[in-house]
Amino acid sequence: MAGMTSSSRPLLNRRLAEFGTTIFAEMSALAVQTGAINLGQGFPDTDGPEEVREAAVRALRDGRGNQYPPGPGVPELRTAIAAHQQRRYGLAYDPDTEVLVTAGATEAIAASLLALLEPGDEVIALEPYYDSYAAGIAMAGGTRVPVTLRPHEGSFRLDLDELRAAVTGRTRLLLLNTPHNPTGTVLTRAELAAIAELAVERDLLVVTDEVYEHLVFDGEHVPLATFPGMRERTVTIGSAGKTFSFTGWKVGWVTATPALVTAVRSAKQFLTYVSAGPFQYAVAEALALPDTYFTAFREDMLAKRDLLAAGLAEAGFGVFRPAGTYFVTTDIRPLGETDGFAFCRALPERAGVVAIPNAVFYDHREEGAPFVRFAFCKQTGVLEEAVKRLRAM
Ligand code: PMP
Ligand code: GLN
Repeated sequence: MAGMTSSSRPLLNRRLAEFGTTIFAEMSALAVQTGAINLGQGFPDTDGPEEVREAAVRALRDGRGNQYPPGPGVPELRTAIAAHQQRRYGLAYDPDTEVLVTAGATEAIAASLLALLEPGDEVIALEPYYDSYAAGIAMAGGTRVPVTLRPHEGSFRLDLDELRAAVTGRTRLLLLNTPHNPTGTVLTRAELAAIAELAVERDLLVVTDEVYEHLVFDGEHVPLATFPGMRERTVTIGSAGKTFSFTGWKVGWVTATPALVTAVRSAKQFLTYVSAGPFQYAVAEALALPDTYFTAFREDMLAKRDLLAAGLAEAGFGVFRPAGTYFVTTDIRPLGETDGFAFCRALPERAGVVAIPNAVFYDHREEGAPFVRFAFCKQTGVLEEAVKRLRAM
């Protein structure tokens, strides 16, 4: 029988049994198969800055990073990450002891959870949550406790009382994400202050996934580590994939205290040991790009957000205008639909467009059933064509 040995024990262990193929792989395969426009998986259809690409080529040719780089990451990149946190947020991290380079944010998340959790520890995550969170918690033997963001006046909001009520004697860690994928919610300074107070009061660790830090359109990105009492208990995660449009390079990072970085590194060294050498040198240069790069990147995505959000509204979707990220979450009920899964599976055939059903990001699947996510990190012409097709549907 498939997936079984002769002892009829399932091959995939019970920690991972509930996780099949990720929705991103499934939907991107569907896009290739049907030739539909892929607004599902979040990756740009244009590469990042030419000079950064060239920096990678140069590093490769000069033999920098072609052999195992240092476990924590090359010094140039660790220094650039520390300088970025200082310049943008006034957060001082020692590049030698408080920065760790990882194979994308995905490894940073997994290594943090594997390092910091004991089996049975509870982890609170905002639902809908990025799909690797559930798998990462499961691999570490933790128990996930979702706190649901609910639609309120055009955006998905966190209920702070619900968050407080979710903390128990077994809660070890809060796994946050702001700007938030898939809803586009950016937690406000007041919300973050309340979360910080709770973390201090209940002595919780926090892993905060801030990979969309440079994609905030309304409001501001405030790293959780800047709040009182948080620097010593927070693991902050960033990624070059999102900020520089090189998702295939898989260069991410962690900033935290020496003790936390040491713990996360203990797990990371046995997952990958090190991450892609030459790309690290290129990302170091990317982080030092002038502010004009970051501003232009945000403005470009802002125009694309507005284009897609308006188009989806004209096509009849309920639209939650994202304050950040490069995703728009929509409500399909105004179209007379209720099942996002069925809708997304049929959409390539019906309209030649691929999207992601938000239900996959929920434990309470019914809460996410009518919501569907579209990515707008695509060329303007591609978005215009997608909108045209959806309006004609
Ligand atoms: N966190 C969030 C919220 C994401 O959306 C993604 C990927 N899109 C990641 C982490 C993973 O980032 P990386 O590709 O750097 O592993
Ligand atoms: N983070 C991207 C998204 O949310 C996809 C990354 C992946 O495929 N693992 O669409």
